[in-house]
Amino acid sequence: MSKYITTPIYYVNGEAHIGHAYTTFIADTTARYERLKGNETYFLTGTDEHGQKIEESAQKHGKDTQIFANEISATFKDLWDEFEISYSKFIRTTDKDHMAGVQKAFLKMFDKGDIYKDFYEGHYCVSCETFFPETQLLDAEFCPDCGRSTSIVKEESYFFKLSEYEDKLLKHYEDNPDFIMPRSRANEVKNFVKGGLR
Ligand SMILES: [Zn+2]
Repeated sequence: MSKYITTPIYYVNGEAHIGHAYTTFIADTTARYERLKGNETYFLTGTDEHGQKIEESAQKHGKDTQIFANEISATFKDLWDEFEISYSKFIRTTDKDHMAGVQKAFLKMFDKGDIYKDFYEGHYCVSCETFFPETQLLDAEFCPDCGRSTSIVKEESYFFKLSEYEDKLLKHYEDNPDFIMPRSRANEVKNFVKGGLR
């Protein structure tokens, strides 16, 4: 059996901290365990280098965005190497092959009609890079995750037609009972999908 294990790809707006290490150690432990069991295991980690807060952090440090991203990304890689994390690949979203892969996937979805252009307007937290529904805001203004002030942002965006896949996903969960692990979480996931994917 082959296994694919990935950490999140970490944002390079700041240096690695113990939270990143915690996640990476768990993924590394799992990868080593799968290899010991004889499973062919591909273990991915890396850095996400696209986002407004990365640009803002770079400006704060008086650095060009890519140079800043290079430096922070290297602190992650160096740390994982110091701990002998057994990753198969350290990927960066600024890697040429990653860009080519994203373009290929994007075009395939675009050609299928799963990606369309539209406008999105909502309360946006720059720090969390997340839109929040009004009902989740603290005192009708502040981000529920970090407490910072949100602002109304309207932007033209590409959207993925996730709603088209509700029924397909639910059927996939039924046909593959081990798809969601641990199984005790399956109902939670199914109910989330049944609640509508936007
Ligand atoms: Zn926030």
